[in-house]
Amino acid sequence: MNEHPLHTDWNFDSTAARRDQYYAASLTRFTPFRDPIVFKKGQGQYLWDTEGRKYTDLLGMNVCISVGHSHPRVVAAAMEQAQELTHCTTMFYHPTPAHLAEELAATMPKGHDWVVHLTNSGSEAIDLAMTMARTYTGNLDLLALRTAYHGPTAAAQSITGIAGWRHPGMPGNVAFVPEPNQYRGIFGEGTAPYLDEITRTIQTATSGKLAGIFVESVQGYGGIIAMPPGYMSGAADRVRAAGGLYIADEVQSGFGRTGDHFWGFEADGVVPDIVVMAKGLGNGFPIGAVVARKDVAAPMAEKFMFHTYGANPTSAAAARAVLAVMRDEGLQENARAVGAKLLERLQDLKDKHSAIGDVRGKGLMLALEFVTDRDSKTPDKEMTAEVFEACRAEGIILSKSGPFQQCLRMVPPLCLSQEDVDHVTTSLDGALSAAANLRR
Ligand code: PMP
Repeated sequence: MNEHPLHTDWNFDSTAARRDQYYAASLTRFTPFRDPIVFKKGQGQYLWDTEGRKYTDLLGMNVCISVGHSHPRVVAAAMEQAQELTHCTTMFYHPTPAHLAEELAATMPKGHDWVVHLTNSGSEAIDLAMTMARTYTGNLDLLALRTAYHGPTAAAQSITGIAGWRHPGMPGNVAFVPEPNQYRGIFGEGTAPYLDEITRTIQTATSGKLAGIFVESVQGYGGIIAMPPGYMSGAADRVRAAGGLYIADEVQSGFGRTGDHFWGFEADGVVPDIVVMAKGLGNGFPIGAVVARKDVAAPMAEKFMFHTYGANPTSAAAARAVLAVMRDEGLQENARAVGAKLLERLQDLKDKHSAIGDVRGKGLMLALEFVTDRDSKTPDKEMTAEVFEACRAEGIILSKSGPFQQCLRMVPPLCLSQEDVDHVTTSLDGALSAAANLRR
């Protein structure tokens, strides 16, 4: 077989004209920075732009980079697979996705048989979970949380609570319950009133018979809202009493990111009926999965369900390497230790900078929330944007989130180091002072 030469003749045109032409001809209307960055290279938790400037990636390229940019073991696994057989459509058995499915099933709570269906993305997996819940229960109505984000496909948008992400004409049969946000939720701190509201919502805004509830164990775009103790298991009880299933969306909170557990739902001891995952599974290779209890998935076998690239061996090979690297490099433990240090340092910054209203999260899933003053808790979108820009100047990439774009989300690769925490918090301190000075 001939060796393919390395492809080196790309026209790497990073000019503003090319960028503007690209955006004008696509649906993408935003680029996060006022003066956009073009990234050229990534390694571990770092990125480099076309000017050679180095950045610490606290965005993890949107929570996808779990084990580090261009991790050599992941790249090698994908390359080896792609060179041998890039794609083998789902209707033929291939051992690479089959091994991955076994490995994913093994991460689930014991005592059940689990079925794994591989998809290309998180929202495809969400769509499938919706269909599965409706097929199994025979009910249509779903519950979701008000500040939830579950993806861009029509079905995933229909259960996305944040209005800014929901376009007109999405499918119905969805009622929203208030998010148990311990900082600014409508019932303040605690769990019980939020659970009671689930029951009231079932009684007043649904047929009384549910297909299920979707819960992000820690909401991502909602502004890093960790479900408080007892919420996930309590929600599951209430929804199951109405005939529905508990569906955990672990697209952002899975794969050890929360530090204490591999899956976010484990924090509450709840055993979901369906688990949805994507992002960190592929470390940048497109892959998602629905893992469901075998009896829950079974009725779907009566009709076809087929994603052309769903069990693509190249992405599956990358994902297998990701799981191995997570284990071999102790990345969940690293997320716990480094995340705890970062959280502590962020709390110190809150003591110093009055613009920070709240610091929260767990593991390497953290956020700062900005307010105009701490008594009124008025969200400060402008300050968030200023700090975001000032951080960029300091070489720190973050992401704005929350329904008012009032939070800075930190979801770095799980290999972030203790030394990075020093650098990040010193830079953040400088950025916060610079942003505050602009106000004076
Ligand atoms: N669920 C959550 C919690 C997400 O954050 C996302 C993506 N940001 C999705 C689902 C959808 O995933 P994808 O963009 O891969 O379709």
